[in-house]
Amino acid sequence: MLLTGTGRLAPAGLCPWAIQIREGQIAWIGSPEDAPVAGERVELGSALVTPGLVDSHTHPVFAGDRSDEAAARLEGFPYTEGGILRTVDATRAADDGTLEALVEARLRAALAGGTTTVECKSGYGLSLEEERRHLRVLGRVAERLPLHIVRTFLGAHAVPREVASMDEYAAHVADEMVPAVAAEGLAEFVDVFADAGFFDLAATERIARAAGDAGLGLRLHAEQLERTGAAELGVRLGAASVDHLEQLDDAGVAGLAGSRTVATLLPAPALVLRDRPPPARALLDAGATVALASDANAGTFAGFGTMPLVIGLGATLLRMTVTEALTAATAGGGAALGLPALGRLEPGAAADLVAWDAEHEGAFALRLGSVRPHRIWIGGREIALESV
Ligand SMILES: [Zn+2]
Repeated sequence: MLLTGTGRLAPAGLCPWAIQIREGQIAWIGSPEDAPVAGERVELGSALVTPGLVDSHTHPVFAGDRSDEAAARLEGFPYTEGGILRTVDATRAADDGTLEALVEARLRAALAGGTTTVECKSGYGLSLEEERRHLRVLGRVAERLPLHIVRTFLGAHAVPREVASMDEYAAHVADEMVPAVAAEGLAEFVDVFADAGFFDLAATERIARAAGDAGLGLRLHAEQLERTGAAELGVRLGAASVDHLEQLDDAGVAGLAGSRTVATLLPAPALVLRDRPPPARALLDAGATVALASDANAGTFAGFGTMPLVIGLGATLLRMTVTEALTAATAGGGAALGLPALGRLEPGAAADLVAWDAEHEGAFALRLGSVRPHRIWIGGREIALESV
């Protein structure tokens, strides 16, 4: 199949362009007059076309609503772990069917917004049985939806009320939960909320080592609430990504720039929390690999399907160029998930593509949050958007 357009193919900047798709991958890319002969030909006119968006940080498995808490927080109440435990109560009380319907609706919204790969964390269960149940729910939803779903076990999201101490719970996560999740093949990654008031560096390292022993990848929530050194710990432990980084300083920027760990920035919750934005410009200028993700979750930003907005926030709030922001939300996300074939416009890359209701990638900034896909391909197959 050959896709062609007279408009822009971004972030490559080709115009006009042609892409040959074979067996789910981009086989060739170039200008239309050099294109190989192909049976099926799809002409996309002047539409902006980009790789499918990769949202490498979301928390879709939850029940309940905390909009009231957001309003209270904006009146001056601080963000505490009590909020997460409130969602844990609501989620534990939701049966499988309810939870599955909630997750499916959120991931359909993500797809309808142009996300073709989404990382999904557990973390509102906080017991082995509940965390396993939530990861199984994700697995069942993944079978029904065409987008790629990468599962992450975030048992160390907060300490549940029934456990006496952080150390006791971290030992349980490391010694019992991580091996059980790995044995059942329920997740590809382990994540830890490595921040002040949640899991300290020693507890984080204990859980990270268990993840490595179980053959699972590592990602960390790091440097959101306080500068703790969690970013450097992630680098030292070979984390695929450290996420948030609002409080990162120059030393932390330098540590990430010289590493293979991706810096995943989440501008939407920083905005909702009125927190300082992460140092995107410093990270990019130092040469770090940067990803942009939504962090759609129960309590600090619940906008599923908003990756076009996240790109716009990267280019405005975080002072990235539009091309940097789009790259961070495509190839950057792929790098953060250890999936380098995602989000790229080159032979061998996944044929995950979106044609937008826009003509230039600058629309992600200019039309902040309102750019929509009008056609989507995943693995070279077109998704019927009206059924999403
Ligand atoms: Zn998060």
